[in-house]
Amino acid sequence: MTENAIEISGLRKTYKASGRSPGKEALKGIDLNIPRGSIFGLLGPNGAGKSTLINILAGLVLKSEGTVKIWGFDQDKNPRQSRAAIGIMPQEPNLDPFFTPGGSLEVQAGLYGVPKAQRKTDEILELIGLTDKKNAYARSLSGGMRRRLLLGKALVHDPHILVLDEPTAGVDIELRNMLWNNVRRLNEERGMTIILTTHYLEEAEAMCDEIAIINHGSLITRDTTANLLGRIDKKTMIVVPDAEADLPQLPPEILGQKRPDGSLAFTYKQKETRAETILSALRDAGISIKDVKTTEADLEDVFLELTASR
Ligand code: ADP
Ligand code: MG
Repeated sequence: MTENAIEISGLRKTYKASGRSPGKEALKGIDLNIPRGSIFGLLGPNGAGKSTLINILAGLVLKSEGTVKIWGFDQDKNPRQSRAAIGIMPQEPNLDPFFTPGGSLEVQAGLYGVPKAQRKTDEILELIGLTDKKNAYARSLSGGMRRRLLLGKALVHDPHILVLDEPTAGVDIELRNMLWNNVRRLNEERGMTIILTTHYLEEAEAMCDEIAIINHGSLITRDTTANLLGRIDKKTMIVVPDAEADLPQLPPEILGQKRPDGSLAFTYKQKETRAETILSALRDAGISIKDVKTTEADLEDVFLELTASR
């Protein structure tokens, strides 16, 4: 038995031209294995192909080429088993406005063939914090509640793998924390494999054991989060001096730049340089600091760095 939750090889997707939209090669041959029990992040800018990949896994989009195995089951040869192994919280809410949260979960469970006696509607409502909304109409739910209900729907058949497509794009901090706590608990307590897409590096950093980055339909890299962040280890300190000042003498591993507004920017690798090195260089040059802030690499830096190196 394989140790992978997901095995993807040679996966391609070309959307056919239709009406006003031209054809689009959204996935250009992806090979990717995702280990069981992990929290795996799929990162990429808008249009990279993340949702296409996720929707193929979920059986919502038909692939053009390649093989997909879910929990060891080939999607084409064992469609039922592979579908039963995975639950998806889609990016686009697709809630039926006429169902209550309780009703939605029951209907979803029915679609997955979960017998009535085995349904866990109340348990799921508790988990997503919608117990008191069990019989409220979906159209009366707030945006945050709808998102939570989508998460609940993904869980009705107790899947091995939970897929979340941009679960926190545009949600408030409270909801984000609740989603993340739920996801962590599902991973830790039930050993559920979690796959999530995001375009926030910070989020991937906080949540994921491993990350794959895709861009323009191709896999750019795949690594543990720690290794990946190490690779793009870049920090910038911006110093506003009290009075007009030129760049101080710096060790070669620190890149200094005087900006048009008079501030001084220092770019360095956090692993090899301590902030103190820069601060003492400033002191030695007699520069006193009015204000200072630091910024870290973001996803854009990652892309620039990874695409430049090949
Ligand atoms: P992401 O989720 O990373 O933002 P998507 O998978 O949604 O990316 O989209 C990848 C590319 O495929 C984009 O260029 C998008 O416009 C295109 N695309 C997505 N869905 C369709 C569709 N149903 N028909 C045609 N093109 C599509
Ligand atoms: Mg998307």
